[in-house]
Amino acid sequence: MIPFRFHQFLYGSDNYGVLMHDPESGQTAAIDAGDGAAYQAAIAETGWRVSHILLTHHHWDHTDGVVELAGATGATVYGPAGDKDGHAHITQILAEGDRLNFGGTDIEVIATPGHTLDMLNYYLPEQGVCFTGDTLFSLGCGRIFEGDPSMMWNSLTKLMALPANTTIYSSHEYTQSNAKFALSVDPDNADLIARCAGVEEKRAKGQPTVPSLLSEELATNPFLRASDAGIRAHLKMIEASDRDVFAEIRSRKDNF
Ligand code: ZN
Ligand code: FE
Repeated sequence: MIPFRFHQFLYGSDNYGVLMHDPESGQTAAIDAGDGAAYQAAIAETGWRVSHILLTHHHWDHTDGVVELAGATGATVYGPAGDKDGHAHITQILAEGDRLNFGGTDIEVIATPGHTLDMLNYYLPEQGVCFTGDTLFSLGCGRIFEGDPSMMWNSLTKLMALPANTTIYSSHEYTQSNAKFALSVDPDNADLIARCAGVEEKRAKGQPTVPSLLSEELATNPFLRASDAGIRAHLKMIEASDRDVFAEIRSRKDNF
């Protein structure tokens, strides 16, 4: 298996788009399509021809450019079922457990509702890559708009079960503010303290903190660490369920 190539670019204030290219077949997938001009610029820069558009969820910052991008490229638009504006141009509906062929490999569809009810993540086992949309961020997780904490915790649990060396592409550069919050609930975590220093350094140089490795998230992202003894002690929730600890961390972040 020849490694795919990935081109990540910023659009809007803090969104990341990605083009994923299989050099063998020439196929290219755009992950989301939140801004037509930014995706067109990325296409011009890479010279890749987009054959697939993979939408994670209906929010406008992920779907606003889909008409322009699909029109310009003729790409097939894949994404979740739904009746919101962001669903209108999806022609290939995907759901939990679906596999779609891309280049020489399979993309596995993982439904991770919580931020929205329709959220889909895209996992490529052979490439060791997962696109987590607004579900799992570097040092954070998506705000729960349409689901509830149990639903989001269940979704994050699915991602936590992927191989630890999976590369996590998430959709926003929120890491610096996530880091400040993470330190407030997990202040004695040496891995977290070291990672936060690295994040500050990267951002000072204008470098992205996305993608990250799942292993880093498991060691430092408080939203994946509901079972951690240190966090539980800090929250005075030693006996609580993982779901309840997660819900408490999410609610503190909402009010941080
Ligand atoms: Zn969103
Ligand atoms: Fe978003």
